Amino acid sequence: MTTTQVVNPATEQVVTTLELVSAAETDAAIERAQRAGADWRAVAPGDRARLLRRFAEAVDANLEQLAQLEVANAGHTIGNARWEAGNVRDVLHFAAGIPERLLGNQIPVAGGVDITFHEPLGVVGVIVPWNFPMPIAAWGFGPALAAGNTVVLKPAELTPLTAIRLGELALEAGVPEGVFQVLPGKGSVVGRRFVTHPAVRKVVFTGSTEVGKEIMAGCARQVKRVTLELGGKSANIVFADADLERAAATAPYGVFDNAGQDCCARSRILVQRSVFDRFLELLEPAVRGVRVGDPSAESTEMGPLISAAHRARVASFVEPSTKVAFTGTQPDGPGFWYPPTVVLPDAPSDRVLTEEVFGPVVAVVPFEDEADAVRIANDTEYGLSGSIWTNNVGRALRVSRGVEAGNLSVNSHSSVRYWTPFGGFKQSGLGRELGPDAALAFTETKNVFIAT
Ligand code: NAD
Repeated sequence: MTTTQVVNPATEQVVTTLELVSAAETDAAIERAQRAGADWRAVAPGDRARLLRRFAEAVDANLEQLAQLEVANAGHTIGNARWEAGNVRDVLHFAAGIPERLLGNQIPVAGGVDITFHEPLGVVGVIVPWNFPMPIAAWGFGPALAAGNTVVLKPAELTPLTAIRLGELALEAGVPEGVFQVLPGKGSVVGRRFVTHPAVRKVVFTGSTEVGKEIMAGCARQVKRVTLELGGKSANIVFADADLERAAATAPYGVFDNAGQDCCARSRILVQRSVFDRFLELLEPAVRGVRVGDPSAESTEMGPLISAAHRARVASFVEPSTKVAFTGTQPDGPGFWYPPTVVLPDAPSDRVLTEEVFGPVVAVVPFEDEADAVRIANDTEYGLSGSIWTNNVGRALRVSRGVEAGNLSVNSHSSVRYWTPFGGFKQSGLGRELGPDAALAFTETKNVFIAT
C-alpha cells in the first residue's frame, strides 16, 4: 500500500498521512459508479434536486471546518478558504436547479413528433489540481451529478483533504453510495484509469497544459468526452485614460491572490507608455502593502506557495540578470514563502512573459496604443483571462472583443461566477464550465422521431 504525507505549506509540519488508491481500487470504484448510475438517473428530478440542496446545506453547515482544512492543507488565507467552501455550496444550489430544467426541444416535422432529450453520459471522472481544490472539484461534480451522471473524483496528491470531506458530506446528505466517490491517488495511477477505463465516459481535467494534452490524446482512443481547463498567461491592460490609482491599487490582487497560484492570474501588466512611470510609482506601495503571512490570520492577504519544489520553480523565473523593480514582504521561518515580485522584462521572449509562473511574480510591460495592447495581450499560446482598465466605453468593448481569452473583466479583476461560463481560448483549454449551459457539458443530445 502506498501512502503520502500531507504537509502544511505555511509550517512544513505533517498534517496527516493518507493511503493512496491503487489502480485496482480505482477500477472497482468506477464499476461501483457505473452500477449506481442506473438508479441515480432514474431518481425523480425533484428528488435529485432536493438531494443536491441537502448536500449544499451540509457544506454550508461545515463551511468553517472545510475552510480550516484548506488553510492547513493548501496554505490558503482563511478569507479565501471561506469563499471557496461557500462557492461549493453555491455551485451545488445552482446545480440543484438543473434536474427540473433540463429541457429538450419539440421540433416541427411532418408525419409525427420530434423531441430531443439530454441524456446523462454515465460515469464522469473529475481530475483536480492543487491550487483551488474545492471550487474546481465542485464545478465538475455539481452539474455532472445534477444531469444524472455518477462521479469519480481525483484530488491532487498535495491537497486531498477537503475533497475527501466533501465526499463524506455527500453521503451524510443522502446522496446514494457510489454516486459520488473521492479517490485520493496519483495522476499516473487513478487519473490515468479515468482516461483508459471504458466505463468513464467523460474526463473533466483541470491542471497544466502539458498533462492536459496527454489526457486529450488518451481520451481520443475511446472518443471520450473531455473538458480541459489549463494554464494561463493573462494580461492586465491599463490605458492612460483609466483611473490609474484604482488600477494600481488593485493590480497586486489580480495576480498575487492565492500567492499567484491561480490560472487566471494577471501575470502580465501592460501599461500605456505615457503613464508607465506614474503607474509603477503607484504600484510600488500597493505591492509592498500586500499582507503576506500566517494564512490563518484574518488580516492576511497572501499565504505561502504549495511546496518547496514549486517555490524553486517560481524562483527560477527571477534570474540574477532579471530586472526586479521592487518586491513585497515575506515572513521568516518555516513555510514555502516567496515575496510578491515585480519584474521589468528585457524582451518579449523572456520566459517570465511566455511561461506560466504560477507564483507571485508579475512582469510589467509598456505599450503604445490600443492595437499594440491587443497585439501584446494575444502574443501568447494561452487565452484564459484578463482585465482592461479604461474609462472609455467604446475602447473597453473593442479591446474586450479583440483579446483572445475566455474570461475578461473591465475595471475589475473578477473572473469567476458560478452562473456565468468559464473556460479558455487557445491552449488554455477546451469547453466551458459553469454558467447557464453547465449541464450540457454532461449530457448527450438524443433526437427521437415518433410517427403519428
Ligand atoms: P498537473 O497537471 O500537474 O496536475 C493536475 C491533476 O492531474 C492532478 O490531480 C494530477 O494528479 C493529475 N495528473 C497528473 N498526471 C496525470 C496523468 N498522466 N493522467 C491523469 N491525471 C494526471 O497540474 P497542477 O500542478 O496540479 O496544477 C497547476 C496547473 O493547473 C496550472 O497550469 C494551472 O494554470 C492549471 N489550472 C487551470 C485552471 C483553469 O480553470 N483553466 C484552474 C486551476 C489550475
